[in-house]
Amino acid sequence: SGPLLLVENLTKHYPLGAGFFKRPFSVVRAVENVSFSVDAGETLCIVGESGCGKSTVARLLMRLVDPTGGRVLIDRTDIAGLKKHELRVHRRRMQMVFQDPYSSLNPRLTAGQIITEPVENFERLSRKQRNALAADLLQKVGLAPEMTHRLPSELSGGQRQRLGIARALSLKPSLIIADEAVSALDVSVQAQILNLLVDLQQQMSLAFVFISHDLGVVEHIAHRVAVMYLGRIVELAPCEALFAKPVHPYTEALIAAAPVPDPTRVRLAVPVEGEVPSPINPPTGCAFHPRCPLAVERCRIEVPPLVPMADGRVVACHVRAPATESPAVAAKSGP
Ligand code: SF4
Ligand code: MG
Repeated sequence: SGPLLLVENLTKHYPLGAGFFKRPFSVVRAVENVSFSVDAGETLCIVGESGCGKSTVARLLMRLVDPTGGRVLIDRTDIAGLKKHELRVHRRRMQMVFQDPYSSLNPRLTAGQIITEPVENFERLSRKQRNALAADLLQKVGLAPEMTHRLPSELSGGQRQRLGIARALSLKPSLIIADEAVSALDVSVQAQILNLLVDLQQQMSLAFVFISHDLGVVEHIAHRVAVMYLGRIVELAPCEALFAKPVHPYTEALIAAAPVPDPTRVRLAVPVEGEVPSPINPPTGCAFHPRCPLAVERCRIEVPPLVPMADGRVVACHVRAPATESPAVAAKSGP
């Protein structure tokens, strides 16, 4: 039946500095040619440093912004073609959980009102139905029934994030897009929320697009991982394979730089050096070349294509994942 979500060549450029003469001086290449799919019940994590375009991908999936190019299909429906009322229905299937639930929850509504509100945007509920729905959703996310009367300000960070999740679940979506959904929480609370998400996924066959800069979080919940660097996916691999053997030098550096929860695991050698370059004037060729210890001349000139590897991953790197070699290159590397 195909994937639940299919993203093809998604691109978003923002004009920058539309100045005095209303001419944009430049563009921010926030997302460049991003393609991936997500199956029902699957968790795809998108990982990368801040500014790599992962949050823009989330907004494009929700169609909160329109793409410059490419398309997003959910259940084979192109969301670019949806009319306003169809978009409403589409958004029922795709819900978002944000980093800071506090800023996304109405401070004047009680928990019960917050989590039943999305449903009430679609249908009228009697008081009895509303109470039953609130009780059911609170229970799903592990909150006590009496929480229904609390205001967001009376809840802890973890409780508020549970509330954000309950609200996202209220419309029975098939896909949840979570943008740094646990990043603001203490580590122990993070683990509880991640376990809750995994439980809910199994119960409800939910798919997640889980966006995070934190590899520890990603390793905990991902089925597959897409690594983004300056607007592009540079490696997309099954989670275990990615952590066991990163192929792209940037993936390798990210994993090497992450705190290692398991001290017996061997650290890799390459540190990520240098600042993240700006997406306004990204480096030519492979955008990672100014920071890459393996860079060769070609890296400064040609953007490496994503090349499928034998173990099912795709990698964009001239050195680690060379595209079908030209005779000239083959001759050079021969004996
Ligand atoms: Fe490094 Fe070149 Fe590979 Fe880019 S293409 S990651 S610069 S070796
Ligand atoms: Mg972000």
